[in-house]
Amino acid sequence: VKTIGVLTSGGDAPGMNAAIRAVVRTAIHKGLKVKGIMRGYAGLLQEEIVDMDSTSVSDIIHRGGTILYTARCQEFITAEGQKKGAEICRKHNIDGIVVIGGDGSFRGAGKLSALGINTIGLPGTIDLDIACTDYTIGFDTAVNTAMEAIDKVRDTSTSHERCSIIEVMGRNAGYIALWCGFANGAEDILLPERYDGDEQSLINRIIDNRKRGKKHHIIINAEGIGHSASMARRIEAATGIETRATILGHMQRGGAPTCKDRVYASIMGARAVELLCEGKSNRVVGYKHGEYVDIDIQEALAMTKDIPEDQYQISKMLVR
Ligand code: ADP
Repeated sequence: VKTIGVLTSGGDAPGMNAAIRAVVRTAIHKGLKVKGIMRGYAGLLQEEIVDMDSTSVSDIIHRGGTILYTARCQEFITAEGQKKGAEICRKHNIDGIVVIGGDGSFRGAGKLSALGINTIGLPGTIDLDIACTDYTIGFDTAVNTAMEAIDKVRDTSTSHERCSIIEVMGRNAGYIALWCGFANGAEDILLPERYDGDEQSLINRIIDNRKRGKKHHIIINAEGIGHSASMARRIEAATGIETRATILGHMQRGGAPTCKDRVYASIMGARAVELLCEGKSNRVVGYKHGEYVDIDIQEALAMTKDIPEDQYQISKMLVR
């Protein structure tokens, strides 16, 4: 490998910049050239490709977002789009690519590998919904951001003796909701993986808790369940307790990455370049059972994971 490219794709996540910085600086340390591909696969197909050096990634380790921007690209899902992408890589002498993104981005990375461009994926998503890894770049920052916001809602919720529904991100994965449920001591956590839609039980618990003297009732609602505003109206009507919905939204995707996200993203970025230098391709870097590992992309995409049931049970036990 002489020249590598790096791109960020799909949803952005805090820590992606730390990963880009590590890719660029590791590559330069190994005597490689580095090109930044802007706006994910969309920028690849538009040939938005820039030379990068050590200073291109100065002053970014502490910033959220991604300096390479990110996008979704329909054209790259087609075989013609992928072929065009591989040809553009060859034209720019890019013989290895690091793709930072989620499962969708890894599917694209697998296609590029099959077309002869050595490709390594790094797990970048706040949702933690990548089965082959216990850690994804951005999750730690996002849960900390959500936790701090929920603490604030909780203060005012207690003062006004309200019930609060707080909707966190995570698409169809409940990891952010579960972690905030623990960290914020929420009375109820509604996870897409577990919630059976039994609103009457929820209402009964709210009424019971009020009778026991609880001044607030915090419900963490995962994005995949949604409908927080209408749920609040129904709960208020059924309990007589003032109920408000707060949707935290995109604030959870931004902000300065935590120490953990900076460190893990840096190590994963360096690891990706090392794999390319070893001639490896079609692999995803993950973190499993306390170790950094790499997994075949198709095997990684075929894996599934679920909320740990024991953790979910503990989270429920601790608020009763
Ligand atoms: P994420 O990577 O966060 O899961 P997406 O699912 O939106 O986000 O995927 C990001 C991009 O990856 C898509 O816009 C598309 O360009 C590319 N991609 C997704 N699925 C495929 C696929 N099956 N083949 C090739 N490229 C894909």
